[in-house]
Amino acid sequence: MTSPDADARMACRVCGLPLNRYVDLDTGQVRYQHPARVVAEPAGHRPDPAPLDDVDARHVCDFCSDERIAYTFHTVPISAVVDTAGGQVVERYGTDWSACFPCAMRVRDRDLDGLQQRLHQTAPHLDPIAAGAARVMQQAVLQSLLPGITVANLGRWPATPLPAATLPKVRDRLANLLTGPVGLPLGLTDPAVRGPVADSLRAARLFWIDPEFTELAEYAAGSLPATHLTAADVPAPHGLLAWAHPVGPRADLVAASWTSGPHGLRVVGYRSIGAGLPAEDLQPFREQLGWLGPRVHAQLPPGEPVDASSPAAALVTTWLLIAQRLTETTPAPVDKAIRKAYRRNGRPDPEVRLVRIRGASTVRPAGDAASPHRSADDRPARSRDHRWWVKAHWRGQPYGPGRTLRRPLLVLPQLRGPDDKPIRASTVVRMLAAAPPPPEQPRHGDGQQPTPTNDSTPTT
Ligand SMILES: [Zn+2]
Ligand SMILES: [Zn+2]
Repeated sequence: MTSPDADARMACRVCGLPLNRYVDLDTGQVRYQHPARVVAEPAGHRPDPAPLDDVDARHVCDFCSDERIAYTFHTVPISAVVDTAGGQVVERYGTDWSACFPCAMRVRDRDLDGLQQRLHQTAPHLDPIAAGAARVMQQAVLQSLLPGITVANLGRWPATPLPAATLPKVRDRLANLLTGPVGLPLGLTDPAVRGPVADSLRAARLFWIDPEFTELAEYAAGSLPATHLTAADVPAPHGLLAWAHPVGPRADLVAASWTSGPHGLRVVGYRSIGAGLPAEDLQPFREQLGWLGPRVHAQLPPGEPVDASSPAAALVTTWLLIAQRLTETTPAPVDKAIRKAYRRNGRPDPEVRLVRIRGASTVRPAGDAASPHRSADDRPARSRDHRWWVKAHWRGQPYGPGRTLRRPLLVLPQLRGPDDKPIRASTVVRMLAAAPPPPEQPRHGDGQQPTPTNDSTPTT
């Protein structure tokens, strides 16, 4: 549960659980406690409150503590007066309630007994006082529900990458979610936002990034220099792109969409949702929510640089590597049933583009003298008695009027030195063992801007 009062939103530094806030009725003193129905690990530690945004908060279902949160419900502000050894305190619950899918269906049906049953299943060892308090709280929520329900972006789902063959169906379901009646998180509910994003999904070109390219893009995104995007950098005006494995600072983004508009590019990163639900819940879940839930949302205004700290860094890096022609694209087979469904509805055959790194033949040959980039390790190859690996790194490529501008170009890992010499064992580094060195030009805004979190939702 979250409170509308920003000061009140605290989580525990030790275990990440959002903390309950109590106000002493006599002194007005504020105290924080772990929620009673959740087991805080390690056992017995005292809550160490920190602002919610400073902690990688471990949000759980407010009704049963499952981390797989599907929906947010809204109520009028709910508080409870609790008798404690130290006197009466007020517990402020706030207005927003996170629910896993099974609890959400019970809340929707005003099924208090069902909620109790589920809590009993997920927390069988709850003591009677905590169980009683949970029932009072659940009842209060059911009695105070406001209309409307919002797709959640909190909690954690197992990250399940999407197979290329199913991407058209995943896209259709996501577009339906965006045009449907359900509220969206991260500022996406605004009709001026969700309409264009839904339209762009229907027109989206679909890309699937293979495992090797995903690994390279994720690695390079960690050091993405400040980059001014141009229209030529984006592989299509509107797109939906899925990575072969999850990316991003929390390793929970499996896909991203982009929408071109008059105010720049709007990017939404998605987590996978639904995995691990029992069969009886999974089908209604897929019908209501599909496979993807919004996780991050960013507007990239024209002229504003994007760098490694942006929530769009992994997507922008993937674009740059495609634009740099490091990759090749082939059609990916689409699931037969999906193709048939498209034909039945008179739609053109769905296309998914599989993107992978080009064959090694296009990689710059070892010790290429034409390379303008000279690192400390880049003495003339002839003088060496061994060959060595150079890790993937960005370098500034001159372009524009008088070649005064620089755009980042990723140089792939390569072997340098005389062909007949042995590869020095100590320099055989895995491509992804460490972050590449920072680019030569200073990073935009270094040390001036707070690092945006994964949840940041820039607005313009
Ligand atoms: Zn804790
Ligand atoms: Zn639940």
